[in-house]
Amino acid sequence: MTETLLRIAIQKSGRLKEGSIKLLTESGISFGNGEQLKVRADNFPLEILFLRDDDIPQYIQDDVVDAGIVGENVLKEKQSDAVIQKRLGFARCRLSIAVPRQQAYRNITSLRNKKIATSYPVIVKNFLKKNKIDAEIHVISGSVEIAPSIGLADAVCDLVSSGRTLSSNGLREVETILNSEAVLIGKKRMTAKKQTILNKLLFRIESLQNAQSNKYILLNCPDTAIKKISGIIPGMKSPTILPLNRKGWSSLHSVVNENEFWEKIDQLKKFGAEGILVIPIEKMIS
Ligand code: ATP
Ligand code: ZN
Repeated sequence: MTETLLRIAIQKSGRLKEGSIKLLTESGISFGNGEQLKVRADNFPLEILFLRDDDIPQYIQDDVVDAGIVGENVLKEKQSDAVIQKRLGFARCRLSIAVPRQQAYRNITSLRNKKIATSYPVIVKNFLKKNKIDAEIHVISGSVEIAPSIGLADAVCDLVSSGRTLSSNGLREVETILNSEAVLIGKKRMTAKKQTILNKLLFRIESLQNAQSNKYILLNCPDTAIKKISGIIPGMKSPTILPLNRKGWSSLHSVVNENEFWEKIDQLKKFGAEGILVIPIEKMIS
């Protein structure tokens, strides 16, 4: 009997490629990274296909692949039946409308009867419809930001991260339509065997994401403060307490969420914590 493999598509070249490979690699999946279109992972039932990102939702719909990594913007634009399985937190950007810097702009109604250049006609059309704005959409596949300066459009709708490309083309961002990040997408329903493999992969990604938002913390404290400090940084189950070679003192180890870390540090110091070390965690399974 042939082994069941989950087929996942990632971007062949571009902004998502590196993050996608890093995610799989950090999930403990090793695979040759040659020039092939398709590779079989060495240590996980996964086949990885390198494709153009824009085509991935359609390939999922057509059963060519089971899952893929794309920007949310592409998922929304392509309207396939693929669904988000996991948000991945990289390749963050937004899809925004921008107009020439000198052009008057009050609010969305200023777009009425204007010509908007974009590579995202579906998303823009829905946005205009929702806001009851009649405007013309001009589809171009790349270098959208130069459209106004060459007289092709009055406004653009394009992906923005820092905003530098817009401003160097004399444009000003006026509306954000969508906030986007890389997402792992997949078929809504798949065979039980494939679903089991996908769940394994999702579990590994979750433990990476947990690890990234948490830190391992070690500190020394007087024994009398152990209870209070344990209340501030309870960790996964409870902190580990180890005696120091100094009477009345202990070393306390725990896990703390990065976002709460700076708030907690002052309290810890107040209760007498000293020699605080904060260490990254590679994987975290609760
Ligand atoms: P092509 O498919 O023609 O190679 P693309 O624009 O789809 O071009 P990339 O530029 O590699 O390919 O972008 C891939 C994804 O990266 C985008 O769909 C988006 O989700 C994300 N992204 C993050 N930041 C930006 C940005 N500043 N500009 C464009 N895309 C960005
Ligand atoms: Zn693309």
